Amino acid sequence: MTSCVDSHLNRTDKSADIKFLDKVFDLVKKYYVETSTGKSKVIDFKLPSEIKSEIDFTLYDKSTDESKLLELCEKVLSTSVRCTHPFFFNQLFGGTHPYSLAGEFLTTVANGSMFTYEIAPVYSIMEKEVCLKLASFLGWDDTDSILAPGGSMCNLYGLLCARHKAFPSVKTKGIRGLPNMVILTSEHSHYSIGKFAILMGIGTDNVVKVNCDEDGRMSPKDLRLKILKLKEDSSNPICVVSTMGTTVLGAIDPIGAIADVCMEFGIWHHVDGCLAGPAVMLPELADDVKGIESIDSFSWDAHKLWTVPLQCAAFLVNPKHKGIMLEANSMNARYLFQQDKQNYDPSLDTGDKSIQCGRHIDVLKLWIWWKGKGTDGVREDSQLCVKHARLLGKMVEEREGFEMVFRVQFIQICFFYIPPGLRSLERNEDFYAKLDTVAAYIKSEMVKKGDVMIGYQRSHHPRNINYWRMVVSNPAITKADLVKVLDEIEELGKRMFS
Ligand SMILES: *Cc1c(COP(=O)(O)O)cnc(C)c1O
Repeated sequence: MTSCVDSHLNRTDKSADIKFLDKVFDLVKKYYVETSTGKSKVIDFKLPSEIKSEIDFTLYDKSTDESKLLELCEKVLSTSVRCTHPFFFNQLFGGTHPYSLAGEFLTTVANGSMFTYEIAPVYSIMEKEVCLKLASFLGWDDTDSILAPGGSMCNLYGLLCARHKAFPSVKTKGIRGLPNMVILTSEHSHYSIGKFAILMGIGTDNVVKVNCDEDGRMSPKDLRLKILKLKEDSSNPICVVSTMGTTVLGAIDPIGAIADVCMEFGIWHHVDGCLAGPAVMLPELADDVKGIESIDSFSWDAHKLWTVPLQCAAFLVNPKHKGIMLEANSMNARYLFQQDKQNYDPSLDTGDKSIQCGRHIDVLKLWIWWKGKGTDGVREDSQLCVKHARLLGKMVEEREGFEMVFRVQFIQICFFYIPPGLRSLERNEDFYAKLDTVAAYIKSEMVKKGDVMIGYQRSHHPRNINYWRMVVSNPAITKADLVKVLDEIEELGKRMFS
């Protein structure tokens, strides 16, 4: 086959386009089935030099034959990590659902942008509806909101609102001449907070880390003391960021008690619910999220626990601050946000409160998925993940050679595997030095084999020792899968130190 598709977009005969796209969709269907049934490997690990020898990355002056293009499409898929595979436990996201995939495909073929109602009429209404639904679980009957490219960006929106609330003049005058601004957050919070402190001219030295308890939950008492100290030093705490579902341990900060401290001092309280946002829908975690209605803003990643493809995240503001996003971020670009539009209310244009210009339509995949499953189905997915995480925690506790490192709080399970050759050793420096090498060794063997992917790390361990952090974020996972993973770790590691 040479090239049949007209490179300048033939407008009358689309048969060649459809023929090409059909072939691509055949690849998509094959990949989807292989991956989601767990029939393929999770990863076919290759070194950069190997990938470069298999895929010709160079862009040439002349066109590439279509059969070659299709080969490249296939190669790209087969060389990618299969993150939707049931044995992918490496990250905080996992499987994708056919409904949400359908939404993503439709979005792409329509190729719209979210900046105005004029360009995105259906999606503007849909986004408002979805955000109102999410806000209802925070106890809010209204919200100022936006869908953003990821949870980190939602956190940025939270910090921008907080800064604007504290110092509205920052919008025109900048931070020069203003008192020193400080953000308080826990030592377990997401690194995006530090990154945005850099971006906002606040600086990482002005991100004050609040102490946590042994489960990694922020201490409201320490928070209060740190705020008092900052005020004595004439610093200005502008925002407290608490976390619902910390990245490593899945800890949920005591939201209500932190909210009380924030209200006492009139400080903006942003909750990073990127991971455990869905906890607000779960009766079994109701105690952990008590007080959520009195916070000021919230980040919610739909692409983590839910089977919605990246990127899909919502930023929600307490309705008592309605309008603040526009106040903080608007530039009133006249060419896009004409205020004399005759056929609709320009307040439907979401673009000016955004910090982007063009904005990908992230809402359809979430809306169609939710519509298809119903709120009950959405809730059950999260419940399954939480249930399986707890089950795995129990299995680890009961299985010889395995040991929990931290208590299971959400969907992460942090544990050691101790090879038989180490089990009888005294727990001294030498033992821990050896144990520290176990996860990295097994992981490299695991990736070579390609059947399972789990992450490991040393963060927050009191002795700085590497341990496994497995994430159960795919509702398609079964108990048998969890057993298989522990078997795999044992199989790959049991001969170490023997
Ligand atoms: C994943 C995560 C983020 C970042 O979200 P992205 O969508 O990856 O940008 C922020 N905070 C927490 C707690 C997270 O788990």
